[in-house]
Amino acid sequence: TGRLAGKTCFVTAAAQGIGRATALAFAQEGARVIATDKNAPLLATLAAENLTTHPLDVLDDAALAAAVAAANPDVLFNCAGFVHQNTAETCTDADWDFAYALNVRSQWKAMQAVLPIMLAKGGGSIVNMASAASSIKGVPNRFVYGATKAAIIGMTKSVAADYVTRGIRCNCICPGTVDTPSLGDRIAANAAAAGGLEAARAAFVARQAMGRLATAEEMAALAVYLASEESSFVTAQAVVIDGGWTN
Ligand code: NAD
Repeated sequence: TGRLAGKTCFVTAAAQGIGRATALAFAQEGARVIATDKNAPLLATLAAENLTTHPLDVLDDAALAAAVAAANPDVLFNCAGFVHQNTAETCTDADWDFAYALNVRSQWKAMQAVLPIMLAKGGGSIVNMASAASSIKGVPNRFVYGATKAAIIGMTKSVAADYVTRGIRCNCICPGTVDTPSLGDRIAANAAAAGGLEAARAAFVARQAMGRLATAEEMAALAVYLASEESSFVTAQAVVIDGGWTN
């Protein structure tokens, strides 16, 4: 505990999954956490854990900028994202636009809002959520998702280069398959083709090198490291945390 004492951490998509586990881990390490999500009722359950909650749809530029400014953060964890399952043939124009708006543009807008604040404070740490399914690995049926997550790696490295002399670090996390509520949705979507829910889940597990999925808490541990001063010489990295999937 105490690895983030004195820090204010702003987290998007904190109501469930990796964002929630990370918001809780940040608080556990002594941070003041501003937990945001568009799912206000689910987000509200974090108030019982002594986190500050703020309902926020990251697609709303003005609301995002205002929330970041009000929080005055030392750490930004850009976690919001959506996983489309499609190919170059089946991806629709709407899928493409939505994926880029949520997965890429919202992270840029949050960084645009936080960078002047971090410059004024003399430093900060930005942690973006990418994926191993990106420029790191081509994954079947993750066409627009992989494109957007590769864009996040590019954005992360670019921001790291621009601010490296001014105390601001920018890294991204590239998970393999993490057991979260939305993974359950993707498994359910594949159930008919796979011959049932159990078979669909088994197919996700079967592609894991360790024979199991990651937990959200395992992602949170990496986010704490990247957010904290322990990683003070780490910037511009796409950190893969995939149980050996890309080996
Ligand atoms: P999830 O998909 O189960 O939950 C996503 C959360 O985001 C929900 O609470 C939802 O309300 C919120 N959200 C969605 N749209 C939003 C918006 N416009 N504004 C604010 N909040 C919004 O969570 P997860 O599976 O932990 O995924 C979180 C991130 O991790 C995503 O960026 C995802 O791409 C990435 N990721 C997940 C996995 C995985 O296997 N689960 C792997 C690699 C990367």
